[in-house]
Formats: sequence, C-alpha cells, structure tokens
Amino acid sequence: MSLNAESMSTADWQAMDAAHHLHPFTDHKAMHGPGTRVITRAEGIYLYDSDGVEILDAMAGLWCVNIGYGRSELAEVAMSQMQDLPYYNTFFQSAHPPSIELGKLLADVTPEGLNHVFYCNSGSEANDTVIRMVRHYWSVKDAPERTVIISRENAYHGSSVGSASLGGMAHMHRQGGLPIPDVVHIDQPFWFDEGFDQDPEEFGLARARQLEQKILEIGPEKVAAFIGEPVQGAGGVIIPPSTYWPEIQRICNEYGVLLVADEVICGFGRTGNWFGSETYNIKADLMPIAKGLSSGYLPIGGVMVREEIADVLINQGGEFFHGYTYSGHPASCAVAIRNVEILRDEGIVDRVATDTGPYLQEKWKELEGHPMVGEARGIGMLGAIELIKPGTRNERVGEPGVTGGLCRDHCYANNIVMRAVRDSMVISPPLIIDRSQIDELIERVWRCLDLTQKDVSSS
Ligand SMILES: *Cc1c(COP(=O)(O)O)cnc(C)c1O
Repeated sequence: MSLNAESMSTADWQAMDAAHHLHPFTDHKAMHGPGTRVITRAEGIYLYDSDGVEILDAMAGLWCVNIGYGRSELAEVAMSQMQDLPYYNTFFQSAHPPSIELGKLLADVTPEGLNHVFYCNSGSEANDTVIRMVRHYWSVKDAPERTVIISRENAYHGSSVGSASLGGMAHMHRQGGLPIPDVVHIDQPFWFDEGFDQDPEEFGLARARQLEQKILEIGPEKVAAFIGEPVQGAGGVIIPPSTYWPEIQRICNEYGVLLVADEVICGFGRTGNWFGSETYNIKADLMPIAKGLSSGYLPIGGVMVREEIADVLINQGGEFFHGYTYSGHPASCAVAIRNVEILRDEGIVDRVATDTGPYLQEKWKELEGHPMVGEARGIGMLGAIELIKPGTRNERVGEPGVTGGLCRDHCYANNIVMRAVRDSMVISPPLIIDRSQIDELIERVWRCLDLTQKDVSSS
C-alpha cells in the first residue's frame, strides 16, 4: 500500500472512504453517520479494526472464509504462482498447471459424476454461466425451445443481471428492471414464515409440487432447468423440510429438467458434508461453486458439470461463446488447490460433521429458551434465529426488519458479526471454530438478544 497506514487514524480512513467509495448493498447515508468500520487484519475467527478492537466473525466474511483467516500457506502459493506465471488466459488453446490440477481435484471432491469445471471469478458469474450453458446445451440437443429456468422467491444467486434474475429478491428486481425473460419463480420452502400452521413435511411437499405445477403450466418442452440452493443462505438460512428435495429431484427427473444445485454457500463443508447436495441427497446436473472454494483468499468460482452434459457440450456443441478474461486465473487456482487440500487433509469437513457442527447446533437450539426467539434452526456451520414478540409463538415486533436491525446494531456494538435478514439473525462461522469459541459466540448472541429485548419492551 502506498499510504502509510500507521499515520492514518480511523477518522482519516472513514473520511476518505466516504469521499470516494461506493459500497455494495449499503445505504451510504446510514453508514457514514457512525462511519465505516475499517478492518485491518484478521486471524482465525477474529477480525481486528483500525482501533485494534477484536471482533468475532460469525459470518466467515460473507459465508466464505471456511478455513479461517491467517493461513499464510495461501499467500505463499499465490506469491510463488505469481512469480512463475502471474497470468495467462485459458482461451487460446491454453491452460496452465494450477487450472488443470484444480479441475482434477474438484472432480475428486465433488459428488460422483461431476467431473468437469468451467471457471469464473464469482458466484454471480457462475450463475450467468449456468443460464447460458443450459440454454446452449438444450439447443445442441435439438430442443432450443427449452429456455425457461425455474427458481424460487427469496433465492439468492448473485448480483449480475442474469444471476439476480435467477434470484428471487423483489427489492433487487425492482432496481433495474429484472428479471430477464424466461426466468420464473415459485414459492420457497420457508416453513416458519409461510407454513407455520401446517405440518412441516406436508408443507415441504406442497412447496416442491409447485415446481411440477409450474412445469405443466409452462409446458415441459419449454423448461430448461430448475435452480436452488440446497439451503438458502442470504435469504435467511432457510432449511427445507426433509420432504422437499426428494420431491424436487423426482419432478426434475420425470420431466427431464436439469437440476442446478447452487452450492456457492453450501459447498466446501458448510453443511457438514463436502456439498449440500450430499446432505440432501441431490443429484445435480450443474453445480455453481465459489466462496468456500478459495475461502475468499482470492476471487474464484466455477460451474461443475455432469459427465453426460459435458459430453454433449464437448462432442456436439462446437464453440461455446462464453468466458471471462480471468477464467481459471493461475493464482486463484493455486490458492483454491491449497484451500481444498487444507479442508481435506486437516479433517476440517469431518470435524464439522462429527464434532463442532453438532455441538454448535445443540447450543444454538438452546437459544429457543430466549423470549425473543421463535425458532432456532441450523445445519453444520449454518444457523438462524427468528426474532419474535416475547410471549408469542411467531408474531413479529413492528414492521418487518425493525427488530433484526436493532439486534444487528447490538451485535456490532458487542463485537460479533451476525447478519440480519429481515427479522432472522443468521450465522455462518469459519469451519475451524472450536468448542470454546462456539461457547463464546453463543454467549454474545445471548447478550445481544437480551439487549434487543430491552429495546423492544421499552418501545
Ligand atoms: C454469494 C452467492 C452467490 C453470488 O456470489 P458472488 O461471488 O457474490 O457473485 C451466488 N449464489 C449463492 C447461493 C450465494 O450465496
């Protein structure tokens, strides 16, 4: 960095940030009142800000720092790769060792049959690739009319025009005239908000069957694919009832609709298996990945493609007119390789499955004993709590999002990063969090809930 960081005060950083930096998903006016939080370093599960304050990062950055902060091996492989070959494209009948090696490693760790990877730099690009790839695939298969992609309300698939169209965020669609044509949405399997009076398993089935109704309404011959996150992340860690995915799978099989499992959050150990598809027994045809693929140390994403589909693309598809300058970037691939090796060789995914995941879930469930909490749910290293009006089963306090905002502000002031999605509070800590750190996390959450309850009862 050219600025001398030592000579910059927090106020200096904040003023310069406010003067020049437009942030993603941010209300700038609201942020620049208190000022941007300037994060200067991180280690393990902790962040440190420009005042030296230690913050427990219960969101693993943005759902991505699976191996935790401070793993210098990743910096070393990036440096060594940048010295050997900092960049070369993968367009000109070319590749380089890291892009080749990572492809093989991904074929090994992803579920059976997903043996090919198309590289991108983010989850959004991965999902844009999905849109173009499934339509191209059907067109090669002499079914060019199969263009419609079915997704869910409140899904998150990214923020580019294509991926935000796949997503089901109404507020995102309202800005910029989305979705693009031939993307349609069915309801999500969010039991607490939308099915509370029904049996959860019945509700899960009913929500899955909306896919069949939608396919029949559109005409199966026009439907290219269904896309879903195994567990919706940004939508509020929405854990589907156990009946949901088997029924979705049945319907996709029956109508020959490609099944796309967006594993950008669930992949690389988040749910206690390597992929959410394993947790829910989903046989995906395409699988977008990003985030945990590099634990966020460098940007990289990809789409894993099932053997039969890759075969059509490779042997009958000719040229696919799609790709990114940085597809398969050598430094990003080198970092991803090392990250996946760490997850595998240090038994991190196994530990989430058998030890720290169950421990977190046990402690998390106890939060239901707090008067503010209507439901505490989770899986692996994911969790959500529903904030409610004390003394009720599922009534909210005031306008949607108000209580969530209060709770988030208490988290901020108490040095824990927990995200508010309307009135759900969600966590996704680094997979390396240990039992005593989980205790600390729960203790801070409990304290923030107490403070939120005080606000609510005094208003
Ligand atoms: C974050 C996310 C994306 C988008 O990834 P970016 O790297 O932010 O573009 C896509 N799908 C899911 C499920 C995500 O959580």
